[in-house]
Amino acid sequence: VLKIEDLKKSFGDKEVLKGVSFEMKKGETKVIIGPSGTGKSTLLACINMLVVPNGGKIWLESEEITSVKNLNKIRQEIGFVFQDFGLFSHLTALKNVMIGLTKVKKMDKEAARELAMAELRRVGLEREADLYPAQLSGGQKQRVGIARALAMKPKIILFDEPTSALDPELIGEVLSVMKNLALSGMTMLVVTHEMGFARTVSDEIIFMENGYIVEQSSPEEMFKNPKNQRTKEFLFKLN
Ligand code: ATP
Ligand code: MG
Repeated sequence: VLKIEDLKKSFGDKEVLKGVSFEMKKGETKVIIGPSGTGKSTLLACINMLVVPNGGKIWLESEEITSVKNLNKIRQEIGFVFQDFGLFSHLTALKNVMIGLTKVKKMDKEAARELAMAELRRVGLEREADLYPAQLSGGQKQRVGIARALAMKPKIILFDEPTSALDPELIGEVLSVMKNLALSGMTMLVVTHEMGFARTVSDEIIFMENGYIVEQSSPEEMFKNPKNQRTKEFLFKLN
């Protein structure tokens, strides 16, 4: 579904991505881990061209998105779930999920409402549809964020630390929605510090440091037998 080749990005004279390459197959869940300031968020932002890379190529299926002029279509096909939810505070949960459908996809209101309700149901928020973000818990807000991404029927969803703004007791409900999504065959690329999720849900883990992919392997390999000294140190520090 997604192929990234030798991706590079600098801000001024600071090189943040120094040649990152990997692929995502359909239905696969990959988790990216690594220390702060390593370029994880920059990598995700490059994938939907919120940040324009300085070098390298990205393909979404057969389309090279790094050379596409009309980014609207690409962005519809790549869902994004943010750490801070990114909801419109003046819109209800339902309207937050509908707005991309009516404004971007030009869907008629009734069809959009129906689809949005179905996605809210999928994340367990049918009854909260008419509440505003301020009336929802952090975990509920993030589930609205996931429903909004899902409603656009993306080819892949990128998650940037989806649970790191949440109180510990609310993390589980979001991870469980994400786990169900992964099981349902969604293609997901997830930056997270939740090692339990990485270990049990992901097909592969990417360890990034200092603008490079240092190690990429199955969760079993990564946790039982990390090859790289830096990976060992990082995983060891967490425990
Ligand atoms: P964290 O785990 O803390 O979220 P990260 O791995 O996501 O870290 P990035 O947010 O990608 O790291 O940032 C990597 C580096 O790029 C940091 O040094 C950051 O200061 C720098 N950076 C990111 N965005 C910009 C920007 N728009 N302008 C200048 N520098 C930036
Ligand atoms: Mg980040």
